Amino acid sequence: MRSAILSVGTELLFGQVTNTNTVYLSQKLNFMGIDVMHHETIGDNPERMKQVMHRMLDEVELIITTGGLGPTQDDLTKEMAAEVMGCELKLDQASLEKIKGYFDRTGRTMTENNVKQAWLPAKEDGIILPNNGGTAPGCIFEKNGKAIICLPGPPREMTKMFEESVLPYLQSKTNDVIFYRMLRIFGIGESQLESMLEELITGQTDPTIATYAKEGEVSVRVTSKRKTMEEAAAAVDAMVEDVKKIIGDSIYSYDDEDLKDVVAKKLMEKGLSISCAESCTGGLFAATLIGVDGISSVFERGFVTYSNEAKEAELGVRHETLEKFGAVSEETAREMTAGLKKKTGSRVCISVTGIAGPSGGTEEKPVGLVYICADVDGNIMCNEYKVRPVSRNWIRSYTVMLMLNMINRMI
Ligand code: ATP
Ligand code: MG
Repeated sequence: MRSAILSVGTELLFGQVTNTNTVYLSQKLNFMGIDVMHHETIGDNPERMKQVMHRMLDEVELIITTGGLGPTQDDLTKEMAAEVMGCELKLDQASLEKIKGYFDRTGRTMTENNVKQAWLPAKEDGIILPNNGGTAPGCIFEKNGKAIICLPGPPREMTKMFEESVLPYLQSKTNDVIFYRMLRIFGIGESQLESMLEELITGQTDPTIATYAKEGEVSVRVTSKRKTMEEAAAAVDAMVEDVKKIIGDSIYSYDDEDLKDVVAKKLMEKGLSISCAESCTGGLFAATLIGVDGISSVFERGFVTYSNEAKEAELGVRHETLEKFGAVSEETAREMTAGLKKKTGSRVCISVTGIAGPSGGTEEKPVGLVYICADVDGNIMCNEYKVRPVSRNWIRSYTVMLMLNMINRMI
């Protein structure tokens, strides 16, 4: 099935409201295996609305509109959809009662123009979609194998209606089921990932493979559309094995989990206590881990030892080490971790020192140079990284990913 999304609302064209409805709907439709061919946004202008709907229907079987279902004069989406589909609207008593009830419950008086919201497609022309989060019902017009689904503009009402009514409707239109896995990967760039998977991607029919990139991370989505869930899951898992053979242990989740959640879960399962000493990340590593529910069972202590004095006083880093090798050096990172271990006795101790910039870099020690040293039950690893100097905060958050990744591999 091919589809198009039509967002209605002048406020969207003015840039006053971010169009989150289209993002949400696109994701949902794609995940269901329904191709989204167009997005379009128009103001509350009935003629243009009809033009666009006609044009879209030349190419797709399904249009989903959002916005313009309300009680005011310029809310005309439903009326225009009815015209375009050649369907009639009738006053639906049940919906009218519901709207009245909503006003009674919220202690407001219903005005005459609210009746407009109860004009909906007759049974033979479509389906009424109840609004359990507001007043304006949505609706589906159906004719000659085409459909227009009209949903309200407010995102909370729209998503609720989609989950409750539209999803089951669309599922009933297809005999296929979709199963997918989202593989999360750290340490490989998007173009590198694509070339590694090139053969699998070009040969794909079902399962399909798609790569995504965001904020220093990449994901691979493997999707299958089959007659049963078992068939789809088996096809996906077989393909995931092929991907695994190529990418190997850079995959840290097969179920779309964040790296911090994966690491936290492992620490908690294994009962591994953890402490950290941070310089360039300034507490971001601790804050990231502490964002996970239940982490108090393993997280012991976090130091932000930003200055040289703090590194000496809190962690016992030697003055000579700092003088001779500098704060950003492998030697300092190693002494930070050793001091942390001595002070806390945590089974996992990790420290980081680096240059977050934008100033302070030299030819020898450029912005983005980072040393991470971890000690897991006496097993010590210390690595040097050159993080892309995008911005100060980007270096900080990417460094936290590097730290989590190191721990994930070591435990
Ligand atoms: P109402 O009964 O509230 O008038 P409606 O269905 O007529 O609902 P609109 O008037 O078009 O919807 O939009 C109501 C509000 O919903 C907008 O002011 C905006 O805040 C939000 N909204 C509308 N469309 C979108 C969109 N595409 N993405 C995000 N928010 C939206
Ligand atoms: Mg409105």
